[in-house]
Amino acid sequence: MRARSLVVAAASFFYSARGGPTPTRLPRLAVFLWSRGPTPASLARAFALARAAGAGSARCVATAFCSVSFLVFAMTVARAQSSALVKVTPLGSHAGELCRNDRALLFEDPTGVRILYDPGRTVDETDSRLGEVHVMLLSHAHNDHIGDVRPNYSAPGTCAAPATGAANANSNFASIASLKNAAVLAPGELSGYLSRKIQNIRGSAPGACAEAGLDNTFDVPLGAPCTASLRPGGSRTARRAGASAMVRIAAVQAIHSNGVAAALVDSPGEAPGLSGYGGSEAGFIITFSNGLVAYLTGDTGMFGDMETIISRYYKPTLVVPNMSDTVTLGPNETIYMMRNLVRPRTVMPSHVNEQATQGGAIRGGTRVDLFQLFARDLVDVVVPVSDVTRSFDGAGRCVGCR
Ligand SMILES: [Zn+2]
Ligand SMILES: [Zn+2]
Repeated sequence: MRARSLVVAAASFFYSARGGPTPTRLPRLAVFLWSRGPTPASLARAFALARAAGAGSARCVATAFCSVSFLVFAMTVARAQSSALVKVTPLGSHAGELCRNDRALLFEDPTGVRILYDPGRTVDETDSRLGEVHVMLLSHAHNDHIGDVRPNYSAPGTCAAPATGAANANSNFASIASLKNAAVLAPGELSGYLSRKIQNIRGSAPGACAEAGLDNTFDVPLGAPCTASLRPGGSRTARRAGASAMVRIAAVQAIHSNGVAAALVDSPGEAPGLSGYGGSEAGFIITFSNGLVAYLTGDTGMFGDMETIISRYYKPTLVVPNMSDTVTLGPNETIYMMRNLVRPRTVMPSHVNEQATQGGAIRGGTRVDLFQLFARDLVDVVVPVSDVTRSFDGAGRCVGCR
């Protein structure tokens, strides 16, 4: 649709510039060319249309020629854009499997911007799988997302019951952000909280992330971490230095909670039994430079604005639902959501709190199995097994997936 709009605008512009008499007739010509393609017949028809609109013969020829030429150019640009791929790599506890604690996803835009989402308990700053991390997103502060304990790389336990390592009072999230000089984007009151955690690690507080221009743009890579609030309705844009295309990150509503566990609250701490106030939780919409729009639900239940705002306004083509079924969406809610509310091209069910796969294949009787049985006629289901990079085109198709 974006390519179609571009073609209409471009053809209209050239027609007008070359002497087309009435702007109201311009879309007719552009749409005609778009529907037929740049053939001799369409060229002749464009000439006739221009002539009927009252232009002189020479101008008619120029109009038709320029319109068709630019059509070819626009189609080439559109094809190049959609052929660029976004890479998505799950960073779980067991390579090749989708396991109980798995939440972390690493996205890489075609421009090179790398975004880490909810590292949780399966990744810390020592993890060699991370590489460069430019942006970090935290949906909410619960332990399984911020990472209250380190992974246990030497004795990882089982996929059904992953082992964890030592407690990390500053959180895996802040430890990674500190080492990688990441731009931290977080909802609620978490920006200030994470700034303090980064200060605990580095000895100095991070600055606020830049927000230049109307797109609230910041450039990466950074020389030091920064933090910023990102709350529903808001968006920020990451740009790899030197790139013209950018990655836009918006926050959307989630319905859950966002307390900070007492063990992660610095002195003087919380009263026994209470958690720290984290403000509101969120989901995220990431619009990549190739046109892919990914909706990361965060922990949430269903809500009507999944259709009225998230589907109609942001138009996601890839959805990553958190589908653990006790405190978030379950498979039945997620099926309803795909059928009636969001309707993406592809779904990657995550945060499933079970051993969903064995040898990389979906295990029978699991939440993921139930989901894919009923959803595979509606959407493409891609299981986010750890350490396996998937590539997505601008339409949300997983390229090379079965
Ligand atoms: Zn939660
Ligand atoms: Zn969770």
